[in-house]
Amino acid sequence: MAMFQPARGTHDLIGEDCRRHQAVIDAARRISALYGFEEWATPIFEDTKVFARSLGDTSDVVMKEMYSFEDRGGESVTLRPEGTAGVCRALVSNGLVQGGLPRKVFYAGPMFRYERPQKGRYRQFHQIGLEILGAPEPLADAEAIACGWHIQKELGIDAGTTLEVNTLGDAPSRDAYRAALVAHFSAHKTALSEDSQLRLEKNPLRILDSKHLQDKPLVAAAPTIFDHLTAEARAFFEAVLRHLDAFGVPHTVNPGIVRGLDYYSHTAFEFVTQRLGTQGTVMAGGRYNGLVEEMGGPPTPSVGWAAGVERLGLLLEANGRTPGPPRPVAVIPVGDAAEGPALDLLQALRRAGIAAEIAYRGNLKRRMERANRIGARAAVILGEEEMAAGRAQIRDLDAGTQESVAIDEVAARLA
Ligand code: ATP
Ligand code: MG
Repeated sequence: MAMFQPARGTHDLIGEDCRRHQAVIDAARRISALYGFEEWATPIFEDTKVFARSLGDTSDVVMKEMYSFEDRGGESVTLRPEGTAGVCRALVSNGLVQGGLPRKVFYAGPMFRYERPQKGRYRQFHQIGLEILGAPEPLADAEAIACGWHIQKELGIDAGTTLEVNTLGDAPSRDAYRAALVAHFSAHKTALSEDSQLRLEKNPLRILDSKHLQDKPLVAAAPTIFDHLTAEARAFFEAVLRHLDAFGVPHTVNPGIVRGLDYYSHTAFEFVTQRLGTQGTVMAGGRYNGLVEEMGGPPTPSVGWAAGVERLGLLLEANGRTPGPPRPVAVIPVGDAAEGPALDLLQALRRAGIAAEIAYRGNLKRRMERANRIGARAAVILGEEEMAAGRAQIRDLDAGTQESVAIDEVAARLA
């Protein structure tokens, strides 16, 4: 028989990996709720147009990373490469564009991109993300970022990351900037990578986000948007920075942050770390003002971010923050007559919120061995004589101490 491996760029989440994964999602779910975000779950595949239109046809994702295929009915569908387009599509599809704005949405789930797999970069990976839909105010940008930072603090990894913020300006700022970029890059066109030469015609801003080494010197020498911002765009950016200060979120301004997707305007930001090599961006996002319209809705200025769960998990590992395995209590009946009462006690412990396990068979010695193997913190031993007296032995498996406790009090004693 063939022995199968997971498909290239995918991985199984087992043991420590799964615990880190869950810790990230749990923290994000809990903290985002404190900020008023409501969780949505949108489909894992969508009509290809949902992504092709919204991400822009010169983005890396659309140019080479989408998992698109024709289904049996001949429709082109795509496994979602990111979460924002689906959330915006859902806002429109569900008729939520009129009342109730702004809406604050949290999501978590798998994403799919055809990439060259390496540490921190996979073909199926997972994201957590936030969107604040229908909020033109710079306070929304700052609050979304503050929530992301709070999640990192909750995970104990904020010391290893820094927030870099930039503005992409409004449409007039970007038009002026685009012209300046075209002038700069056209003068050195042949030195650019093939991808970037194509972008020079279609979307020169995207060159700033190029991953080709060949493009780096020209990108480093490129003009920045700050010389081309309108007064409004500048005021907006300054307000975002002021609100970030008010929220106490440390940040630096980095004009190199442009984000890989087409739909951003005004704020763009990344939380980056030195601890993950070239996969250094853990959380990234910004403001997008045209995306809900692309999905057939009214103008709905919005802001959001997404973070890679695996990359946050790698940071947990690097910071020694991997959650330990669960430590249940092992219930151990000694002799047939103890089986029934042992099951009663097992369920009483579980109802009291105490993780408890019972081995399916074996004598006292075997069951104690298993208790140690599963990392039980205590064993509750139900011997026939003691049971007759309404008592059980609790053995602390860390300290090695043992005491006799009334059966009714076992749960309280272990709580
Ligand atoms: P990168 O520059 O690393 O390719 P990106 O700009 O394509 O990232 P986004 O689309 O902004 O990434 O996604 C947000 C976050 O999702 C990233 O910062 C990263 O943490 C995570 N991420 C993106 N692609 C992958 C992947 N293939 N594998 C694992 N995590 C990923
Ligand atoms: Mg990418």
